[in-house]
Amino acid sequence: MNTEEKVYAESGMTNHLSQLASIGQIAAGIAHEVRNPLTAVKGFLQLLQQDQKNEYLEIAHSELDNALKTLNNLLQVSKPDLEDEEFQTIYLSVELESIINLFQDKMYEITIQTDFQNTGAAIYGRKNQFKKAFFNLIKNAIEAIDGEGAITLTHYTKNNEVIVTIQDTGVGIPEEKLSLLGTPFFTTKDQGTGMGLAQVFSVIYQHGGMILVDSKKNQGTSFTIRLPQQQQKTQRGVRKLDVMFDDKYSIKEYFLGNQKLFEDRLLAEATTVSDKIDDIHNVGINLLNNAHKLVLYVVEGREHELISFAKQEGMAWAMHSLTLAFKLEWIQAIRRTLWDFLYNFDALNKLETDRITFFSMEKSINELIDQFLTHFFITYTKYKDELLENQRKLVENLSVPIIPINKEICILPLIGTLDDLRISTIQNKVLAEIEYRQIQTLIIDLSGVASMEKEAARNFVQIIQGFSMMGCKTILTGMRAEIVKSLITSGVDISHKVEFKGTLQLALNDIVFHKDLQEV
Ligand code: ADP
Ligand code: MG
Repeated sequence: MNTEEKVYAESGMTNHLSQLASIGQIAAGIAHEVRNPLTAVKGFLQLLQQDQKNEYLEIAHSELDNALKTLNNLLQVSKPDLEDEEFQTIYLSVELESIINLFQDKMYEITIQTDFQNTGAAIYGRKNQFKKAFFNLIKNAIEAIDGEGAITLTHYTKNNEVIVTIQDTGVGIPEEKLSLLGTPFFTTKDQGTGMGLAQVFSVIYQHGGMILVDSKKNQGTSFTIRLPQQQQKTQRGVRKLDVMFDDKYSIKEYFLGNQKLFEDRLLAEATTVSDKIDDIHNVGINLLNNAHKLVLYVVEGREHELISFAKQEGMAWAMHSLTLAFKLEWIQAIRRTLWDFLYNFDALNKLETDRITFFSMEKSINELIDQFLTHFFITYTKYKDELLENQRKLVENLSVPIIPINKEICILPLIGTLDDLRISTIQNKVLAEIEYRQIQTLIIDLSGVASMEKEAARNFVQIIQGFSMMGCKTILTGMRAEIVKSLITSGVDISHKVEFKGTLQLALNDIVFHKDLQEV
């Protein structure tokens, strides 16, 4: 196989793919539209066949089946997403092994050799579609061999690509036919569908891959498939750092001596959060100093101080409503940086720490950082809860604003809806105030309350009775017609426990200032 042929196949490639994509789109549309009426026709044919046996009906039926099969084939190739398969990590060498096993019956005449390298390399895509594609390729290779022959499969990686080749010693493909490969329905076989390669091209193309064909008549064919390799998450190893070091450094001195470098490394490590550092500094929290403090507590094992520091930070964080996700990322960055520095300390001291020492150190250091996080979160949550509780109480108080006019008289202007919860809040609050302030007269102004449910009205009347039991007279003012209706239909009579005044102003004039209506 000379290079010219290879180049030809390669450059012909893009043509095929775009050709296939557009044919696929049109075909899928037509196939869909045509398949449904044909399926109906098939049903009617079956009914006719039940009534009478007729040779022509049988022919019609089997021709129709052929047509439907063709349409289904076409639909499968042109719209493989119909299967809606999830993308996943695929190790092609593993899949190839299992596909080869499906051709056991051919192995008397055809030897299948494999040369799989870089088997740990994966691609990412729809697995079943790839299985089908490689099945099609191997099947074609087998079908190309008349009698004895060999098929060689290779797998390797190059420049971040997984490359699979399928090479056979078969009949080969004449040069003039090369450009037809992958076109739906192109086949040179009596029983062929011409759909195999169309499926192959479609899958490889959809996964951002390339397919190259190299063939020589009567010598054999080789298909090369190149697919983007799935990027492995690179394991993050420890970093060698340009630290200041002295043989006599204690671990504390080492961290103190390298404070600047530590801060730089930490900022580089916490890239996603570094833009928030200034904002946080503005509310009075020095993240870098605090990080350094935390690290010293950890390496010196000062658990007690570490915990109280964690609580202090949790409180500050809650007070300034800073985000927890940020804190978590920041602490993880500190953890990574800390380990880099510990590694360098160990290496420079030539301690060659043995495994037992290392693992127990690992345990105690990570445990301390975890402890920090735990206490931080507990304090944060506790403080947040308290804050919420206080806010709730504040809102509650605001919803029952008792305004003293003098030593004995208070006003309670109510606004909004009076539901059961609100009424029970009013009850508790007002009863306590009546007792505490020795309120003699309470003016409840309802002009800000639009309506009241019947049940709420009943409860409302009951709490007014309660006030009267404590020796407090209630005056209701500003009642809207809706509320009066609710109170009447509640069925409880309070007229002898309550005084009514049209407006708050009237009530104030009358009771507080002892003025007569006429004087206003
Ligand atoms: P089918 O196998 O049904 O004919 P394919 O799309 O799989 O349809 O293949 C289309 C045509 O491409 C085949 O009919 C054959 O002429 C040619 N072909 C495919 N693979 C090979 C091969 N490995 N060797 C020789 N010819 C091949
Ligand atoms: Mg085929």
